[in-house]
Amino acid sequence: MTDELKPNLFNYDLSSLEAYFKEIGDKPYRARQVLKWIYHHGITDFESMTNLGKPLRQTLAQQCEITPPRITTQQLSADGTRKWLIQLDAKNSIETVFIPENDRGTLCISSQVGCPLDCQFCSTAQQGFNRNLSTAEIIGQVWIANRELGFFQTGKRRVSNIVFMGMGEPLLNYENVIKTINLLTHDLGFGLARRKVTVSTSGIIPEIDRLKTDTNVSLAISLHASNNELRNQIVPINRSYPLADLLNACKRYTQSRDEEPVTIEYVMLAGVNDSLDDARKLVKCLKGIPSKVNLIPFNQFPGTSYQCSDITTINAFRDILMQAGIFTITRKTRGDDIDAACGQLVGKVSAKAARHKAKQTGGDMEVSNAI
Ligand code: SAH
Repeated sequence: MTDELKPNLFNYDLSSLEAYFKEIGDKPYRARQVLKWIYHHGITDFESMTNLGKPLRQTLAQQCEITPPRITTQQLSADGTRKWLIQLDAKNSIETVFIPENDRGTLCISSQVGCPLDCQFCSTAQQGFNRNLSTAEIIGQVWIANRELGFFQTGKRRVSNIVFMGMGEPLLNYENVIKTINLLTHDLGFGLARRKVTVSTSGIIPEIDRLKTDTNVSLAISLHASNNELRNQIVPINRSYPLADLLNACKRYTQSRDEEPVTIEYVMLAGVNDSLDDARKLVKCLKGIPSKVNLIPFNQFPGTSYQCSDITTINAFRDILMQAGIFTITRKTRGDDIDAACGQLVGKVSAKAARHKAKQTGGDMEVSNAI
């Protein structure tokens, strides 16, 4: 657990760390040296930072710390997917999942404990919202995954892609997410290409526009419906940021990124949003927006009344999109033997956040976290 009184250097990106060194009366370039130790070499004790003078190492050890969140358990699936349960504080934990594929390794990270949005088919919504994760807690998930996968020892990069598709709405924790993206993409941090980092959002339009200016990482939109009436119901943030405005924001985003497509996420809910007419309406919505669609088979969780569409329906839906020239894939379920698939992640959230289920369960509750 981190000591609240000491600044944790995992909370700083390059510019804020430079400011920190100025503040303690040292040279800003120290920030570059320290970031390299942390993110290139995995070093978190100041004594090992041999290019810093001994007095500075001692000052830093007294004044600040470099503390990642703590792993509670680690599970490995038969398909190579790994899941870590990460303890944030006495009451809160989150899960982070590593999904290896032939040509890449994707890490799915969380940005909030719980989520303030209330998407009807999402298990995270059941637990309510507790708090934003700090930058240290977000970048810490990536640092821990790299450490566990041997990156700091071997230099072999297994985490090649990052998706903000764990718990929470990243664009409602904007400042900390931006600092994390800075660390992910800077050469002194993990040095990932911007298009290998994907922010997934339910559609917070002002922050989509800010994201376009502040970074140009890849964008995924949790659309899930092709008309306002249904979207108002299953993704209630749509009442504040309606479909047409959201689609325009997507268009602006792609225009700023040389027409690099936006990913449209669409969860397949039997009898709710999966008709051929829904597919045709979706085609209309996406007209003129460079996009690719990810159809996500719905993962059931206790207490939900939704069911996943059957495979024939999913394929027919996909075919309509493909015939209209929209590149569409059905997301594969990975790691289901360790409950690491979309909608199966389990973290722990303090009871005060558990707005929906607290009455039934009492005290702390298990929560699910959807990716
Ligand atoms: N808040 C962000 C990111 C988190 S969810 C967002 O809304 O985009 C990541 C993806 O998983 C979203 O598209 C979400 O809608 C989807 N998802 C949520 N619950 C699911 C479930 N039970 N089964 C399948 N996908 C789910």
